[in-house]
Amino acid sequence: MLLRHTPKEVVERSALTINPAKTCQPVGAMYAALGIHKCLPHSHGSQGCCAYHRSALTRHYAEPIMASTSSFTEGASVFGGQSNMLESINNIFALYDPDIIAVNTTCLSEVIGDDLNQIINRAIADNKIPKGKTVMYASTPSFKGSHVTGYANMLTAMVQNFATNTGKKNKSITLLPSFVEPSDMSEIKHIAAEMGIDYIMYPDTSGVVNAPMDGKFHMYPKGGTPREKIIASGDSRYALALGRVGTFQAAQLLDSKCKVKTEILDLPIGISATDAFIDKLRTTSGVTVPESITVERGQLVDVLCDKAQYVYGKKISLMGDPDILFGLVQFCKDAGMEVIHVITGTPAGAKWDRRIKELAGPNAIVKSGAQADLFYFHQLLQNTKPDLIFGNTYCKYIARDMDIPLIRTGFPIYDRIGHSYFPITGYRGGLHLLVKILDVFMDRQDRDASEEKFELVM
Ligand code: SF4
Repeated sequence: MLLRHTPKEVVERSALTINPAKTCQPVGAMYAALGIHKCLPHSHGSQGCCAYHRSALTRHYAEPIMASTSSFTEGASVFGGQSNMLESINNIFALYDPDIIAVNTTCLSEVIGDDLNQIINRAIADNKIPKGKTVMYASTPSFKGSHVTGYANMLTAMVQNFATNTGKKNKSITLLPSFVEPSDMSEIKHIAAEMGIDYIMYPDTSGVVNAPMDGKFHMYPKGGTPREKIIASGDSRYALALGRVGTFQAAQLLDSKCKVKTEILDLPIGISATDAFIDKLRTTSGVTVPESITVERGQLVDVLCDKAQYVYGKKISLMGDPDILFGLVQFCKDAGMEVIHVITGTPAGAKWDRRIKELAGPNAIVKSGAQADLFYFHQLLQNTKPDLIFGNTYCKYIARDMDIPLIRTGFPIYDRIGHSYFPITGYRGGLHLLVKILDVFMDRQDRDASEEKFELVM
């Protein structure tokens, strides 16, 4: 009932955003920073911003998220945040002893024009940064972009600050994943390990935001990529970036700064994209695909063949993050589903729009950017009702209003668990995703079936 006021008629808007289909840049930057071992994210702005960033991540992962703030008040807002930042650096190293402080800016510090380069150089000149420690930063103004942009900016800052070309290549392949769950990062590592690849992957939030409960508090959990590995990525013989929107800048920088040959692939979601990822690992490393991977692929294909009749021709509407959406659309098309709407609040660019349109088909409505919001998504769904929605927790209001099943994907997911532990990438992730889709359609069939059509065996 909550959204019954949403009119069916779509009116073109150029400025107004209603219920954005995204969160703010620092959230993504913080998430990326958590993927470096012993790194403390730091929000350069007001306490309120940091409280929001941390709470978004804490609610999504159901884990305490550690992050500090420059605690701007009126004074910092008028005179600049340098003294707050310098005092923060003192306190953080004295109290929390991270190896790295990863600073993200906020709307406020960007608007007043704080120069983080200059502030960090001042901290170095004043000996505020202990030997062997680093303060890095990414510019993350949230009046543009989204959490995916923030993630991309922090990933680029990692390459900028650490990746080093010593002139002597090592044997590793560097993997740069876009904004995906820790479970997906584990799955990407699992594939590389099964293939016998010597890899470096960053960021890597597995074992950080989904760490096991052991009864003790760990300020810095065991997971996260060690700084030495990120430095060594500058000597990698090859790099694969997974998910164009979240990794493009970082991949380009690794190529231009360190002369590491870099290629960008789609996230390995679904059979086609996982095939492409594995084939690229195979050809660049001269390895063969092991039996274990072939079995995983075969199991996914088997279930898809067994139950294709439950998914074939179903109408699907998707909202979320651009790189994940690309994988999901491909997954749906591979499984014979009809994609009718795809929207993302992230300004993913004309190339993304074009590629999604090509993939989804001429009848699909595709929109990205600030006006691709949940109000618009609801209007689209009112005009053509799908059989299933993929989207984040905020879609639950639309799903309930229209009685459409919702599979929660992307960020944020505040009302379900599992995304941290069960992937959607790789063949195993594909199987997990397919089972979720089948459960939804079979549950609906059971719910809606007449007595004589209520089947024991499906
Ligand atoms: S949108 Fe801007 S003001 Fe709001 S929490 Fe994010 S950084 Fe802070």
